[in-house]
Amino acid sequence: MSEEQRIREKYAKLLNVELTELRSKCEHESSEWLGVMWAPGHFTDYLVKNCTRCGQTLEQKAGFIDVKIVNGEVIQTPIFTSNGKKYSEEERIHLANLKVQQSFSQKGGKGT
Ligand SMILES: [Zn+2]
Repeated sequence: MSEEQRIREKYAKLLNVELTELRSKCEHESSEWLGVMWAPGHFTDYLVKNCTRCGQTLEQKAGFIDVKIVNGEVIQTPIFTSNGKKYSEEERIHLANLKVQQSFSQKGGKGT
């Protein structure tokens, strides 16, 4: 084992012990819903509700992403707001249309 690996393992164990202790005592009084990404900027189908103090995941929901085809483009819109409330169908259509407008203006329009 290299010196680097030894140091990494030592602190990973220490981190684990301290987090486990914090989470066992925490009352999870404040939390927030977050979208889970599989890579930066790429959301999965999951939302998790994490404690803002200790970081423990308290709840999770699937079905975060709703896929629509708008003007031939595949548009992904969230099903839940960042505080876990469900978007209505009208709000999701509005979000999908906004995304189409954004991608259209990023391409500089398609000419007239
Ligand atoms: Zn907590």
